[in-house]
Amino acid sequence: MKDKFSISFLGTGHGTATECFNSCFAIRKNKDVFLVDSGGGNGILKQLKQVNIELEDIRAIFISHNHLDHILGVIWIIRILSRKYFKNEIKLPIYIYGNNVVIKTIEKLVELFIPNDFVCMINKKIILEVINDNDKKIILGNKIKFFDLHATKTLQHGFIFEYEKNKNFCFVGDEVLSPINNKNIRKCEYLYADAYMCGSVAEKYNPIKKHHHSTVKYISQIAEQEQVKNLILSHTIDSNLSKRKKEFTKDAKLYYNGNVIVPDDLETIIL
Ligand SMILES: [Zn+2]
Repeated sequence: MKDKFSISFLGTGHGTATECFNSCFAIRKNKDVFLVDSGGGNGILKQLKQVNIELEDIRAIFISHNHLDHILGVIWIIRILSRKYFKNEIKLPIYIYGNNVVIKTIEKLVELFIPNDFVCMINKKIILEVINDNDKKIILGNKIKFFDLHATKTLQHGFIFEYEKNKNFCFVGDEVLSPINNKNIRKCEYLYADAYMCGSVAEKYNPIKKHHHSTVKYISQIAEQEQVKNLILSHTIDSNLSKRKKEFTKDAKLYYNGNVIVPDDLETIIL
């Protein structure tokens, strides 16, 4: 039977968004889940619940960088799972990947917040693993390659996940994409990228310069140049959410001929 891949978008907003959850998503292969980033708090638990993901279905987590809106949710997941592992309620281990800065922070959070009884589950059942530029791993039984995004604010990594032979889902974090990464996204099936703002407002405000966050125009032009098939825009501002899908899509279409996806929180797409 052919494997079924889908993406559930758990959050679609930027760091301090309050009208939607922080950007993070779940890659689902049949019942197994690969979680990418975890939002900034225990809201992640509600988002997962709403798309019918049980914590024990999560086989792996990747935290892209050491910022509040991406990393803090993971300590809630570790907190709950460490107890379940300790009580032998679940068997299969979970792998948590991140660069050395991310893993150091998670270790610190574990030290501060995980009850002593359950700490022994870390690296026994909850495996913390440092990834570096160009590291290749297998997640959900599929090939994945991590790469350094050469971000400006803090060390940040993206990845190429091969969900089918020669079909790649590419994640490039939440900063302005550096041209160094163009080779990694070339001809990918899906590109998931930061697009803080769109249209003339974006031109005027200039988030690229102010926050190192991308605009729809910027990333759409790169996606066109690199022949990306589907462009997913996320990590956006949260004002005007009801019009976001329409306005971001319209703006992207000015520069990009492929398929544009501007998900709302809790939307799922089939790959
Ligand atoms: Zn962010």
